[in-house]
Amino acid sequence: MEKGRLCAFCPSPRLLEVERDIQSRLEAGEIGESIYARYLKDFSYASPYGLELPSSVFILASPIGRARIDLDLGDRKLEAIIPPTYCPEELMAENTALLGTMLSDSGSHCQPAWLPLKSLAARTGLGRYGRDNILRFEGAGSYVRLDAWWTDVDAAGESWGPAQVLDRCKACGACTSACPNGCFTHDRFLVDASKCLTSLNEAPGPFPTWLDPHSHNAAIGCLLCQEACPENKGVRGQQVEKNFSLDKEATARLLDGCSSADLPSEAAAALRAAELSGKADILARNLRALAHGRSLYPKRANSA
Ligand code: SF4
Ligand code: SF4
Repeated sequence: MEKGRLCAFCPSPRLLEVERDIQSRLEAGEIGESIYARYLKDFSYASPYGLELPSSVFILASPIGRARIDLDLGDRKLEAIIPPTYCPEELMAENTALLGTMLSDSGSHCQPAWLPLKSLAARTGLGRYGRDNILRFEGAGSYVRLDAWWTDVDAAGESWGPAQVLDRCKACGACTSACPNGCFTHDRFLVDASKCLTSLNEAPGPFPTWLDPHSHNAAIGCLLCQEACPENKGVRGQQVEKNFSLDKEATARLLDGCSSADLPSEAAAALRAAELSGKADILARNLRALAHGRSLYPKRANSA
């Protein structure tokens, strides 16, 4: 597909298996209640096309690069990476147009779907799980944006099976050593999402007191396990494809948590790129924590 994208169809009846799998992991305590409530509870598994018509989910994996916010703190500069997977608006527009073109010849329809994208991409064979529970994709590593749409395409017979794990993980472990928060345990494959920096810095409110200031490494999310992975060497996601350069005043406003309307355009664009429009307080808190951590540990190994 165009620009290295990968895609797959999943017939709607298969979604029941995905939903059951998540429920059984919740009941077994493998997924914590708070993580379920925040990331998994609101999925909608019912086809908008009803039970009588064929329907399927189209899953699109788009390799993307990263963005960087250059901040002027007065006494020093600070670079803050927005990891690949936080979605540039242009990519969403491109993907929607691409799907429209693909379906128009057959007269098929589509509409956005809110579903567990990682599970679908793994079960359709688009990607394989790494030890860090993040999918790796051929030629793009883990730096991929996943999106899904409902379609009325009959996808019976499309590829489907159990999620697979990278063979390479058996003799590696680089991600487990890179994690600053002890999210990996020996006795189970699932990482402890409640300790993962991404789940902590995507949520509002103060960071827990146990969190090492050293661990902050990005404007949002965490790159440390992915940066350590040999599957991510030389992929597009390593490149900075967008750069938001903020002067001293714009930096101060962003760090103060000003809303988009009160930010200079470049700072408001950075907020959108981090998918935090309307949540300026989260980006402000993260950037302050990153600045503080870097001042304590300016030469962190593995720094993203
Ligand atoms: S760093 Fe190594 S163990 Fe971790 S996901 Fe990558 S290949 Fe697997
Ligand atoms: S994203 Fe960061 S905190 Fe989460 S498992 Fe990976 S290294 Fe650990």
